Amino acid sequence: MSYKAEYIWIDGTEPTARLRSKTKILPDGADLPIWGFDGSSTNQAEGRASDCVLKPVFSCPDPIRGGDNKLVMCEVLLTDMTPHPSNTRSALVPVAGKFGAQEPLFGIEQEYTFFQNDRPLGFPAGGFPAPQGFYYCGVGADEVFGREIVEAHLDACLAAGLSISGINAEVMPGQWEFQVGPLSPLDVADQLWVARWLLYRVAEEYGIAATLDPKPVKGDWNGAGAHTNFSTKAMRESYEPIITACEALGEKAQEHIKGYGAEIEHRLTGLHETAPWSEFSYGVSNRGASVRIPWQAEVDKKGYLEDRRPNANCDPYTVTRLIVDTCCEALEKAGHV
Ligand code: ADP
Ligand code: MN
Ligand code: MN
Ligand code: MN
Repeated sequence: MSYKAEYIWIDGTEPTARLRSKTKILPDGADLPIWGFDGSSTNQAEGRASDCVLKPVFSCPDPIRGGDNKLVMCEVLLTDMTPHPSNTRSALVPVAGKFGAQEPLFGIEQEYTFFQNDRPLGFPAGGFPAPQGFYYCGVGADEVFGREIVEAHLDACLAAGLSISGINAEVMPGQWEFQVGPLSPLDVADQLWVARWLLYRVAEEYGIAATLDPKPVKGDWNGAGAHTNFSTKAMRESYEPIITACEALGEKAQEHIKGYGAEIEHRLTGLHETAPWSEFSYGVSNRGASVRIPWQAEVDKKGYLEDRRPNANCDPYTVTRLIVDTCCEALEKAGHV
C-alpha cells in the first residue's frame, strides 16, 4: 500500500505570498523525503534554472483525504540547500532558538472573508447589507453567512491535530475568525499556514473563496487582522515584564509595521477598532490601541499582551520573529528571564 503526502509551500508572489501544494505518493510507512518544484511558475526562479527544493518541516494527518494520508508543510530551499530568498521561516529558526529559554508563546487570531461572485458572502448583488452592528458573534440566517464552511474547517483543523483554540463570526458579513495557539513561535506559524491551506481547501468544496485581504471592502467596513497574542515565562508570572515588552514594541514600531503585512496603512487607519499605523500606543483593555493588555492580565498582574497591528495577510514567520526579537531582547536586558 501507499499513502498520499500533500506538500504545501509558500510561493514568491509579491507583495503577499500565496500557498501552493502538490501530491506525492509514498510507500506505506516511508519517511517524507526532500522534493522539488518548478520555481519559474511561482515567482521563485528563472526558467533557465527553475528547480526549487521542498524540505518538509511540519506534518500532520490529512483530514481531507483521511486514512494514513498527510499534509506536509515545507520550507523552500535553493538547489545548494541554502534557504530560498522567499523563505521567511529560516530567519525565524535562529531567533526562536536564541530566546527559547524565555519560553515564548503565541496565539494568533486569523480573520478572513468569504467571497462569492466577487463580493463578500452575505452582500446582496449590486448593493450593501445593513450596516455593521449585529454580525459579530451573531446567529441566524440574516446575520451569519458561511457557517457550514466554518464548521467544516474547524473539524478539519481538529482532525489534523492543529491547536485551534476557537472560532467566531466577525464584524462584517462573510467575515470570520479562527485562533491558533498558544504555541511556540515555529509551531504557531507552521500550524497557521496549514490552517490557512485547509481554509482554502475546505471552502473550495463549497465553491467559495476565502481571502486574507486586510481591507476587503472599502469604506465603513472593518478590515481583517491577525491579532497576535504573546507571552514569555516571565510575562506569565508577573506584570512588569508585560510593560517592558510593550515599551520595547514602541521603540521599534515602524520596523514592525513594515513586517506586519502588505497594505497595512489601509487597515490601521484609527477607525474600526484600530490605532493609526503611524502612531504607537498601548493600554489596558483598549481595542483602539496598537497593543492591548487584556483586563484579566491587569487584574491577575500577569499574563500576555495582544499586538493588534498584524494584518490578516501577514506572514506569521515574520511577525513572530519580530516580536520575539524585540521583546525577548528587551526582557533579557531588564533581567526578566
Ligand atoms: P480576543 O478577545 O482579542 O478576540 P481571542 O480569544 O480571539 O481574543 O484570542 C486570544 C488568543 O490568545 C487565543 O489564541 C489564546 O490561545 C491566546 N492566548 C491565551 N493565553 C496566552 C498566553 N499566555 N500567551 C500567548 N497567547 C495566549
Ligand atoms: Mn478574537
Ligand atoms: Mn477578531
Ligand atoms: Mn483580538
